Amino acid sequence: MYDKCPKKFQYLKVTKQVKPGTSEHLEYGNKVHKCISDYLSGISDNIMPDLQNKKAFFDMIRDNVRGGDCFYEEQVCLDTDLKQVSWFSKQAWMRGILDVFIDYGNEGVVLDWKTGKQREGNDQLLFYAALVMSIRPKINTVRTEFVWLGPNTITSRVYIRDQLPVMWREIMGKVNSVEESIREDVWVPKPSYLCRFCEAYDICEDRQG
Ligand code: SF4
Repeated sequence: MYDKCPKKFQYLKVTKQVKPGTSEHLEYGNKVHKCISDYLSGISDNIMPDLQNKKAFFDMIRDNVRGGDCFYEEQVCLDTDLKQVSWFSKQAWMRGILDVFIDYGNEGVVLDWKTGKQREGNDQLLFYAALVMSIRPKINTVRTEFVWLGPNTITSRVYIRDQLPVMWREIMGKVNSVEESIREDVWVPKPSYLCRFCEAYDICEDRQG
């Protein structure tokens, strides 16, 4: 979120002037995530009308998870030593939710459902791979994928354990930027077409559109 708009980060995470997840777009996203998670985990056989054309794809995933341990909407939380702690631990430092995580022993697969417009940028994929390698020392290779449900496309990246120190350095660079903003109380707005989906749209003087 900070990358997309530091000002939005300030509104949601620092001053907490607005609550997350109140826009129509986010509500829809949550509904889609729940529907897919319930279907893949076998809690429900129903698929919402918007996702009916993806049923074959979801069935293929259900078939492919055999042979691996599969987790849906898995909450992963690390402390500052990059050790896993519980989601609400006082030591919690970094959190991420893996929409689908399959542990094949030596290899891991992470899928992330995307309901919005397809965009460039793989930071999130790198972050998921770093999380998985940190909590699963036996996993040496992680394939991470954005599944763009609208255009029906996939963005895929593969990371190997040798890259892990570099990956964390990259992530820490972003963490340092956030910490600097907090220290200096400087939050640069980045107006874009995304403003109309932003929870702070009504109160933000820098919004676009
Ligand atoms: S409305 Fe736009 S510029 Fe303002 S906080 Fe949201 S994303 Fe940033």
